[in-house]
Amino acid sequence: MLWCALVVSLGDEFAHPFFLLMKYLGPPNPLITLVGCLHGDETLGRDLFEHYSDRLAAYPGLALVLANEPAMVLNKRFIETDLNRSFPGHPEGSQEERLAAQLLARVRSSRYVLDIHNTTTDIDAVPIATNLSDESRRIINLFPTHEVALIEPPLAGRSLIGQLTGGVSLEFNFDFARGEEALKLVDHVIVGLIQNQKDPARERSIFHVTGSIPKSTKLPEHGIRNFELIEELGVYPFLYGERSYPDIHALAATSKTIEVI
Ligand SMILES: [Zn+2]
Repeated sequence: MLWCALVVSLGDEFAHPFFLLMKYLGPPNPLITLVGCLHGDETLGRDLFEHYSDRLAAYPGLALVLANEPAMVLNKRFIETDLNRSFPGHPEGSQEERLAAQLLARVRSSRYVLDIHNTTTDIDAVPIATNLSDESRRIINLFPTHEVALIEPPLAGRSLIGQLTGGVSLEFNFDFARGEEALKLVDHVIVGLIQNQKDPARERSIFHVTGSIPKSTKLPEHGIRNFELIEELGVYPFLYGERSYPDIHALAATSKTIEVI
């Protein structure tokens, strides 16, 4: 097919003075970009990159980014600074700030961006958005979970999806991601967007995440569950149990609304 001829090789990255090993496969102006390994130790992004890189001809309009391969090779979250806190990036900043600038320039023309993450929390799968644009709603509509985390400004300011209108992060528990179900969920979103299909709209709980619960806060000893109100604090914890958050217990949603999406 025509667009196959447009597959971008890695060559143009080599020509860049700040070559950083970001891998990109797909057409120059894709409908959807799947971004894996913004965090190098989150292996589902690498697995999905490999899965789809062999099958791109069957997914017209899909592009793939393997974001932080140097960190991935070392099984580290990042090299110098957390890439998902390094946007919009800087051409002379840290390794990840330089990478962020490259990556953003690359994905900006994509209508939809699916940003794949793994978590150690007990949440099997959850979409994370920074806005409820038409594009974000289309992605959420094709994802079956009831809960949606909406990261509000300024918290979202330095994340990848915080720079985009149509970007949603899809967060999967590590164990859940080892089965077939995570791939099926991602595939359903990609195929639905390509074929312009919608699932029946359903009620979603939107958790408005505005801050975090620092480690210095004393929590009740038992019964803390993600998305369940901690009455003493008046917040809903999100990503409680995430091992890569050493300084906080969890992110904190201060309100919950119901939307049909
Ligand atoms: Zn992550």
